[in-house]
Amino acid sequence: MKKKGIIIFVLVLAFMSGFKYMGTVHESYCIMEQSGLKSPVYYVKGKEKGPKIFVIGGIHGNEIGGIEAAEKIRKLRIKKGTIIVIPRSNIEACKNEERNPYYMQDLNRNFPGKNNGTDTEKLAYEIYGLIKREKPDIVIDLHEWESNSPAIIFNSTNNIFSLILDIIDKMNNNVIKMSNFSYYSTPPVGSINKEVSEKLNIPVITIESDMKEKLEDRINMHMYIINTVLKYYRMDE
Ligand SMILES: [Zn+2]
Repeated sequence: MKKKGIIIFVLVLAFMSGFKYMGTVHESYCIMEQSGLKSPVYYVKGKEKGPKIFVIGGIHGNEIGGIEAAEKIRKLRIKKGTIIVIPRSNIEACKNEERNPYYMQDLNRNFPGKNNGTDTEKLAYEIYGLIKREKPDIVIDLHEWESNSPAIIFNSTNNIFSLILDIIDKMNNNVIKMSNFSYYSTPPVGSINKEVSEKLNIPVITIESDMKEKLEDRINMHMYIINTVLKYYRMDE
């Protein structure tokens, strides 16, 4: 009987934790619909109204940790607000697992893009336009690099200073297995970080994991920061 009681208790707990996120809606459509750069955008909508987070992965196709993390994020369940996720924003680069294919320019040097430009400029224009229309509270831009230790990059802290401190504090205190975590505040011209934060006045945090680490640890780092952001905006409670 005692065992049965425990089982029922566990089942009730499982039901209640699931119940919290019941009503999460997952929707999707594609950007660049009529082109070879067609790629899905996913919407994760909590039952209650709340903040909006825009997550972008695959701006560089060889940065697998960020792409895999974005694929996990699009399946999350939340209580409040909306997460918009483009896991493979440069689908050609992602297919080839290259930073950018030889027939394209670097997407992260071409924001805000051009409506009648090259394929890369058109792609940048469409992503930038989506962010402009959606007006998210924050954009999280998922990347990886090889020559530096893991870091976040932010251009200005417009209203997110405490979030930045929270992330840096957690990473430096080794909440997850991460060494030499650092931060930078000078994103390059044409990057989504610089252009969106300066022209649209929407804060952007770029996450850079270290490609020399194990893939699983890199994905975990991205997920850990995303969860910190969700908690900061109280989207999970
Ligand atoms: Zn990158």
